[in-house]
Amino acid sequence: MAGLYFHIPFCRKACTYCDFHFSTTLDRMDALVEALRTELLRRSHEFRGETVDTIYLGGGTPSLLNERDLSALLNDARKLVRLAGTAEVTMEVNPDDVTAEDIDAWKRIGITRLSIGVQSFNDQRLSFMGRAHNADQSARSLDLIAKAGFASWTMDLIYGLPGMTVEEWAAQLDQALSFAPPHISAYCLTVEPRTALHKQVERGDVIAAPDEDQAQQFELLQQRLEAAGYVHYEISNFGKPGHFSRHNTSYWQGLPYVGIGPSAHSYDGAVRRWNVANNSRYIAGVNAGEVYWEEERPTVVQQANERIMTGLRTMWGVGLEALPDLAQATERTVQRYVGSGHLVRNANRIVLTKAGKLLADRIASDLFLTT
Ligand code: SF4
Repeated sequence: MAGLYFHIPFCRKACTYCDFHFSTTLDRMDALVEALRTELLRRSHEFRGETVDTIYLGGGTPSLLNERDLSALLNDARKLVRLAGTAEVTMEVNPDDVTAEDIDAWKRIGITRLSIGVQSFNDQRLSFMGRAHNADQSARSLDLIAKAGFASWTMDLIYGLPGMTVEEWAAQLDQALSFAPPHISAYCLTVEPRTALHKQVERGDVIAAPDEDQAQQFELLQQRLEAAGYVHYEISNFGKPGHFSRHNTSYWQGLPYVGIGPSAHSYDGAVRRWNVANNSRYIAGVNAGEVYWEEERPTVVQQANERIMTGLRTMWGVGLEALPDLAQATERTVQRYVGSGHLVRNANRIVLTKAGKLLADRIASDLFLTT
């Protein structure tokens, strides 16, 4: 059993690029927390008595919850789930929520790892993205977090912004590294459908960055962070040894997990389930004991393709022996990408090379099994 995920679907402000499920209406927080607790109680049998190694509070913005609510969720988890003594308990926080008192509270209730959404150290960029915080708040929060003595912590950054130069990105990385984070997640800005950013691009108000600029910034990211001692263990994730995200690594390895909350996904090794992405319908469904989720049983081929998609993005790659009846066409594609220097094949595993990481999604989809 990989882990337990709580989705906290509230944010102060809607970031223009975000397609996660959240609401900026904060008045139903109490009802939502009660529904999360009820859902966990009802689904605790799904852990089958197995030891759970990680809990992840994501969102949305979990740092909007007060200590009482966070502690209620974690205490329920401890009562209902067999939690490993060394469990990793991560919470996503936004820079505008971090105070010394909050940090003390988060440590007191058992959070072991913070993930802070810095995104940029440039106020204009933050404003373009619709973030609720500014660069000063990030710097103050990072100082507090770095000194707080958490087992680990990480910051999120975004590159590939419209008009961003490689020099600007280099300066951002220098600032990030000055706080010596044990882990960094860096995401390339993508224009997702049904976001405010998508509308801005459609209207011609914003011109998305060219692929070549984004690729150049990705290459710089790898160079800078590897030179600073980080291991590039997943396309968007870099950790110092001992600081990789155990929760996310378990997802990528295809281990089962239970997701609690609106829009949360779960996987038990055979069935995938996703809860309704609507706070009111979620709360009503939980309270009435009705079905507020959908589910599907992926076919063997779908499971294999998911393993290709997620595994290939990691430094451990994909074990070909685990793929059922590797199709001739897939074998030929592996050979083609090994020949072009985008994949290496060690024993029966395939791993992306540096050149391959630039084409990760295309290579994965070329490898997908179709029968
Ligand atoms: S704070 Fe995070 S979850 Fe909320 S809108 Fe911004 S990116 Fe999305």
